[in-house]
Parts: sequence; structure tokens; C-alpha cells
Amino acid sequence: MAYYHNNTIIYLNGAFVKAAEATTDYYSQSLHYGYAVFEGIRSYRTATGETKIFKATEHYDRLRNSARALNMPYSWDTDELIKATYEVLQRNNLQNAYIRPVVYAPANMSFNPNNESYILIAAWEMGLFLGEKLLRVMTSSFQRPNPKGFRIEAKASGHYVNSILASQEAKAKGFDEALLTDMNGYVAEGPGANVFFEKNGKLVTPPAGNILPGITRATVIEICEVLNIPVEQRLFTTDELKQADAAFFCGTAAEVIGWQSFDEVTFPAKWENTIGRKIQQAYKDRVTEAIKGELVD
Ligand code: PMP
Repeated sequence: MAYYHNNTIIYLNGAFVKAAEATTDYYSQSLHYGYAVFEGIRSYRTATGETKIFKATEHYDRLRNSARALNMPYSWDTDELIKATYEVLQRNNLQNAYIRPVVYAPANMSFNPNNESYILIAAWEMGLFLGEKLLRVMTSSFQRPNPKGFRIEAKASGHYVNSILASQEAKAKGFDEALLTDMNGYVAEGPGANVFFEKNGKLVTPPAGNILPGITRATVIEICEVLNIPVEQRLFTTDELKQADAAFFCGTAAEVIGWQSFDEVTFPAKWENTIGRKIQQAYKDRVTEAIKGELVD
């Protein structure tokens, strides 16, 4: 996939520059040690035709918190970065897009802290997904990183080696995606998404502690409050998940996506009749600022 072309513009440390001409330092702790933090954000063309970044403040606040959790200097203002992001979208003529801010370190091959950090904001086209294709998910042989070894609540680049290993393993075995457990064997999350299951009209999702507490996860919980759907945040095992009526992943890129099966066990509920499907629709309405069920082109 082509993420950029000759005229693509990125925001780089206060300036708008061509992606094809931008340079970076090859002696950075970010490249060598995975010492960087990032965000994954989406913008949508709304029902009225405007371009709107979904939960922009929440994402840039998390970026700052991630940087602080890793002792990376962070002096940017959230509103200033949101403004720069809208300008990136506008300069690249994007409405439905995926936005990738990265905060990275200067040249430094030691493990010592730095006096400054750098930032880049890139964006590329990504349409509303909300796929009807249901996922076949397997339990990964990889566990999520031990929270005593990492700042697990931070969206740190280095953590994603774990995600890549898990996702590649699942795909090599013919599945669509992996589900990772935590260091104690309880269900944690997917490589890039949080998990919910449905049982007897209730939703259950793992609590904070061993997961990246996603912004989409928080949105799902908000939607459940509005729709009067009970949600429990608690630990559970893969065995309990196999007994569920239905399950779904949620994340900025994945949005809300249902599961067909877990470790080859097919869920009994038809996706069309699940709470997940209702939430998927409500999520779409939120991101596109549509009145319930209104079609958006
Ligand atoms: N868990 C992991 C490991 C992720 O990478 C993501 C994607 N950022 C999520 C959960 C979902 O987070 P969000 O809803 O904020 O995108």
C-alpha cells in the first residue's frame, strides 16, 4: 500500500513538508530501541460533508501521557497539534483518513534521557470500515508485555513488536487475527484492538491494568450507557470467552468488528442480532455525526 506520493505533505516539527523529502536521524533511540510514542486517529466525512477528527483531544492527550510515561520531553499543546492535523488533512485533500502522529527521540545511542523530542504527523486515506466480514480469531502463543516491565498504558512503539509477532502468527496459521492473554493467562486484548464479549444481554471486557485502555473501548462503554446495556469490566479466561454468545474487537482503525469464531469455536448468536451489531451502528453514527441510521455517502 502506498502511504504517500510525491506531493504528500506531513507536519514535521512545526513545518509542513513533503513526505518524500523529509529526513530523520539514523542514530535515534527511536529507530534502534523502539523508544517512541504514537497515536492512531481517524477523521471522517460527516453527514453534513465536513471533515471531523474523532476524539482528537482524547488522542492527543494520550500522546502526551504516553510521552511522559516514557520520560520523553513533550512541550506541544493539544489544540495546536489538532490545528496542525486539520491542516495536514486539508493540504492532502483528505476527509476519511487515518492519522499517525509519532513523537520520537533525537540522536542518542545511550540509554540516557534527551533534552528534546521530535514530532511528525502523517495521514493517509482510510474509508469507513465497519466490515460485515466476521473475524476468525485464535489465542496467541504470545502474551501481552508484563506491566511491571513496560508502561503498558502508554502507546509506545516498542510494544508493537509484541503485536506484530502475535498478528503474524495468527495469519500464518490461517486466522484473521490474534487474541493475547496477559501474564497471568487472562484475556487481555488483540494486537491493535480491545475485546468485548456478549453473554445473556450483558457485555464483558477486561479491566485496565494489562491492556491499552482504548478510546474506542471508552466510546463503546459510553454508547452502552446511552442504550442501557450493562457492561462489566473484569478478568476472564479464554474458556469463558468460548462460552459467549458473541464477541467483537474495537479500536480506532478496526472500529467495531464482530467475530465469527474463537479457536475454531463458532459463536451461536447471529451477528445481526447481537449487541455488538447495535454498537457498531451507533459507533458509525457517532463518528459521522449522523442522526441514528442516516445513510452517509
Ligand atoms: N489495544 C492496542 C494494543 C492497540 O494498539 C489499540 C489501538 N490503538 C487499541 C487497543 C485500541 O485503542 P483505540 O481505541 O484508542 O484505538
